[in-house]
Amino acid sequence: MKTNFPVSFSNRLQMQMGAEASLLLEALATDSPTSIRINTAKFQAPVQLEKVPWSSHGYYLKERPSFTLDPLMHAGAYYVQEASSMFLEEVVKQTVDLTQPLRVLDLCAAPGGKSTLLASLLSKDSMLVSNEVIKSRAEILAENLTKWGAPNVVVSNNDPRDFDRLEGFFDVIVVDAPCSGEGLFRKDPNAINEWSPDNAHLCSDRQRRILMDVWPALKPGGVLIYSTCTYNPAENEENIQWLSEQTELEPIRLDVEKSLGIKELEAANNLVGYQFMPHMVKGEGFFVCAVRKLDGDDWQAPRKDKFPLAPTGKKEQVEVAPWLTDEREFFQHYENILALPTGDNESWGAVIRELRIVQAGVLVAEIKKKNLVPAPALALSIIFKKDAFPAWELDLRQALQYLRKEEWPIHRKKDGWHLMCYEQLPLGWIKRIATRFNNYYPLHWRIRMELPGELPGTGLL
Ligand code: SAM
Repeated sequence: MKTNFPVSFSNRLQMQMGAEASLLLEALATDSPTSIRINTAKFQAPVQLEKVPWSSHGYYLKERPSFTLDPLMHAGAYYVQEASSMFLEEVVKQTVDLTQPLRVLDLCAAPGGKSTLLASLLSKDSMLVSNEVIKSRAEILAENLTKWGAPNVVVSNNDPRDFDRLEGFFDVIVVDAPCSGEGLFRKDPNAINEWSPDNAHLCSDRQRRILMDVWPALKPGGVLIYSTCTYNPAENEENIQWLSEQTELEPIRLDVEKSLGIKELEAANNLVGYQFMPHMVKGEGFFVCAVRKLDGDDWQAPRKDKFPLAPTGKKEQVEVAPWLTDEREFFQHYENILALPTGDNESWGAVIRELRIVQAGVLVAEIKKKNLVPAPALALSIIFKKDAFPAWELDLRQALQYLRKEEWPIHRKKDGWHLMCYEQLPLGWIKRIATRFNNYYPLHWRIRMELPGELPGTGLL
């Protein structure tokens, strides 16, 4: 791969890094590695692939397959995630007590790489609010999190400044900020065309605004994790330094093995950032820094507020409760039945009341003409009790046909709802009627690609 980088970008790197800049520029002209992170709550098969060294469940693939043609991806068995950003796992493990119930906000979350990772790390009683300000991107985020299947997640569509309504609420806030994208130059050549010094400057200003807007929502003692995919100091360590001048915070130094090739960037006030660069690691450009908040007040639950959702009717509760492996509380939102965790109605109520919610908890079913239609999210949830429904194991081609929303004649004994599975993993629902069935896979998730005569695999199975 031969690439021409903007001269002002190369010059800045030269000033920043001296002779090392040419090594980085050379690495940026090579192909980027492809990596995935396994969802071990769904998929436990042994994986014979090279491991991402700073991740528990991240692996490199030898080449980039057509992920669209792998039903395992649609079933949420793995997420295609750039390797460097998987380092968030280590940052979280070293900065917070993951055995505790935590309230975590992923502020700039779409399409969901960091959120799916956070959802897998958090304890059973924790809550993840996964937020995205751009509506269309919030829908994609909701789709990816639904497929991942973690039950204690709220997807919201808010501007960072809206979080002032939840002052002192979160134990952890992740700001994976929109940035000049220098770290993605080799993965996405469009990022090069969009780059300019002026744009990088605008990004830095916007990042400072985002940080200040969301800072009040972090509780005292809480951890802010700030990351970007750029090498630009004005968007990285200088922003955290700036934040430390506006607020009361404490730097957090991570324990990082030297042999990993992750560069420690020291800034003023003892701040330390961690920079991934493709000439030193097998991954893209990534910057991350963690700090602890020292000022502000803890969140107080409003005294008399009623829970913002009404409980589902008794009859429906009795019907849906056996579909889940965990005890949940069931609420109704129009025709939809939602399963939320028991025991923390104050926190869930506050989030649902104060934010623009795209989805919350597990959408279990829709009530249609007094009948329950099981929801796609139920089939994909990790707390779904699979043996509550008859299941149909599909081969690779059938699974892809199902995901294309195709229908074909069948010879089954029982009418009603059937679960469609691939490698034992649920993909979604069909309703069998006599010798045919209706395909209930969501229209907006369906595969639009024509299926080739020969189907490749991803090398995972
Ligand atoms: N965290 C995501 C992941 O791991 O998949 C990637 C996030 S991407 C780097 C930054 C996100 O910030 C984008 O989804 C973008 O839409 C969103 N964004 C753009 N402008 C924003 C703003 N002013 N405030 C908050 N988020 C913004």
